[in-house]
Formats: sequence, C-alpha cells, structure tokens
Amino acid sequence: MTPKPDEDVVLKQLSEELRRTHALSEGQKQTLSKVFEKRLPPALGLVEAKSVTCFKFKPSGRTVWIVRGRKGDYQVMPESMFCTCDDYYFRVMDNKKQLCYHLVAQQIAEALGKFDTSDQSDSRYADLTAKWNSRASSRRI
Ligand SMILES: [Zn+2]
Repeated sequence: MTPKPDEDVVLKQLSEELRRTHALSEGQKQTLSKVFEKRLPPALGLVEAKSVTCFKFKPSGRTVWIVRGRKGDYQVMPESMFCTCDDYYFRVMDNKKQLCYHLVAQQIAEALGKFDTSDQSDSRYADLTAKWNSRASSRRI
C-alpha cells in the first residue's frame, strides 16, 4: 500500500507541467481525479467558466487571486495554499489537509492561462480585500 500523495504536491507538479503544455491531457485529468475525486469536476467547471480572476494592484505590483464560487467570491493564496472559503476552513480544522476546489481551480487556471485579469489601483486594495475577507471573519465558529 502506497500512501496517498500530498494533494498540494500533486497539484504543484501538475501546474508546472501545464505551464509548459497549456493543455490538460486525459492522463493528467485521471491523475487529478484520483487525488481530488469529487472536487475535480467543480474545479474544472470554474476554470471553464473563467471564474478565476487575478487582481493586479498598481503601482505596488501586488496580486490577489479571487475565485467566484457558488456562494460568493473567495480569496485564494497560492503561495500558502490558503482559501477563505468555509470548506477549506473546516477541512483544515479537522486536520484532513485537503485542498478545496477553489485552490485546485486557481492552480489549473493560472497554469493554463485561463483566467481574467483586473487592473486595480493600490488605493482600492484595502477596500477590496476587506470585502473579500469580511466573509471569512464573519463566519460562525
Ligand atoms: Zn476554497
């Protein structure tokens, strides 16, 4: 029995490949499907629907990734593999170490270049991030 590979490792490796090929092959889909199971179809759905947006703030050059989910917009932080959705929160609290499908969608969308870009001024950074994070801070614990 081989242990299930770490989800973030699998996802990072795959997005490296996608950055070169710019296409998701059937074989890669199967690999992803084995690891992410039921979370893969909604993740690919988000990619196809172009629900991933990269906000670029100028002049600082800061970037913020937002994924539009069914219940709202979620901020995804690819460096730390963090997402502001409830799903992520509860999984991590349970120590399941599973990624939510927003993170999967963001990684695939970024690697394939299938995302929208929104240029913003730095003066809007505080307002926008406060909006995106308000859901996270108001969630019931
Ligand atoms: Zn999420």
